[in-house]
Amino acid sequence: MSEMTIEQPSSKERASRQRIPVAILGATGSVGQRFIQLLAAHPWFRIHEVVASDRSAGKAYGDAADWKLETSLPTEAADLRVRSLGDDLESALVFSSLDASVAGEAEELYASRGCAVVSNSRNHRMAPDVPLLIPEVNCDHLDALKVQKKRRGGKGFIVTNPNCSTIGLAMAVAPIERAHGIDVMHAFTMQAVSGAGYAGVSSFAILDNVVPYIGGEEEKVESEPRKILGRWTPEGFKDAPMKISAHTNRVPVLDGHTICVSLRFRQSEDLRRHFPIEKLIDDVREALVAFRGEPQRLGLPSAPEQPIVLLPDSDRPQPRLDRNAQNGMAVTVGRLRPCPVLDIRLVALVHNTIRGAAGAAILNAELLHARKLLP
Ligand code: NAP
Repeated sequence: MSEMTIEQPSSKERASRQRIPVAILGATGSVGQRFIQLLAAHPWFRIHEVVASDRSAGKAYGDAADWKLETSLPTEAADLRVRSLGDDLESALVFSSLDASVAGEAEELYASRGCAVVSNSRNHRMAPDVPLLIPEVNCDHLDALKVQKKRRGGKGFIVTNPNCSTIGLAMAVAPIERAHGIDVMHAFTMQAVSGAGYAGVSSFAILDNVVPYIGGEEEKVESEPRKILGRWTPEGFKDAPMKISAHTNRVPVLDGHTICVSLRFRQSEDLRRHFPIEKLIDDVREALVAFRGEPQRLGLPSAPEQPIVLLPDSDRPQPRLDRNAQNGMAVTVGRLRPCPVLDIRLVALVHNTIRGAAGAAILNAELLHARKLLP
């Protein structure tokens, strides 16, 4: 009698099966491809389902997505069949990088079906029961989920990450807000073309050019940091009491949003009376370098060791040189100096599709998993 051999899965296969299956809505787009790239090697999550528009549905992911990233298309994603928006999904964790025209309704639908929806899109960011989360800054805002679930019913929920410029701005100034409080802030952005999505800006419009308008962007940069830096209370979110004025510009850079910031402290006159500006700059420098949060404490897989990297060189940060700091998950800050009109000024840089989008959402999901909040 021949002996039957049953092939045992390798330890790598077993580990892969134990990872949490996830779905990506808008998987074919600029942010969607970053999700695929970052999740392919993720220790906790496994790409199980990909969803896009009817243009892509039914095709293999490798055929539907016009892969644009510097690394090759991960084999585990290439053969997945692209699902239609609205299809029933097996994954209880759903990342969303859908176009805003469809994200609002679709995210609500999947949350109502019991999924944790971790979104990049703008639609629910300012909702009174939805955390606009940066885990290093405001993980206490997750308490809003209890209210959200009660209000909307069911086990599912929506968590969002900020606009791609906002996250760079909010992270760079969070330690300053904590140390001294911010009264007024001027933010001037120079935003990469990948921030507009693949179909966003034609090369003819952006090469040799700067476009001083990005629809809806100034409003986001002026409102989102106030929610992020504010507090969750039993009565709801209380915005940080700062005023923000933003100019947002599209520039011919591929990836990486640069933000020039000038700000005035809340107790400006008092502080300036008691301390020379050099002392205040030193305080801010120390606060930026020492800045750490819950992801670092928990050792989350995507957490940068140092969320804010302070560069001493007078001509940094620069997108081409600095956008990949700490795997694209850190915000780099430079040119910290006195401001002749307000108090201080600085330049911040964020990789818009990593820390500004897919990487931010993945870190949010890691925090949800670590806190046992995933359905
Ligand atoms: P994108 O490149 O244009 O990709 C949009 C995705 O949405 C594609 O997968 C597309 O599928 C899908 N989609 C469009 N219409 C659809 C429909 N009617 N039904 C189902 N799927 C549909 O845009 P993106 O830059 O990745 O941005 C995605 C979202 O993230 C946006 O809400 C954006 O505001 C936000 N965001 C972007 C960035 C950034 O740096 N790019 C940063 C933060 C947040 P098809 O390929 O099949 O058309």
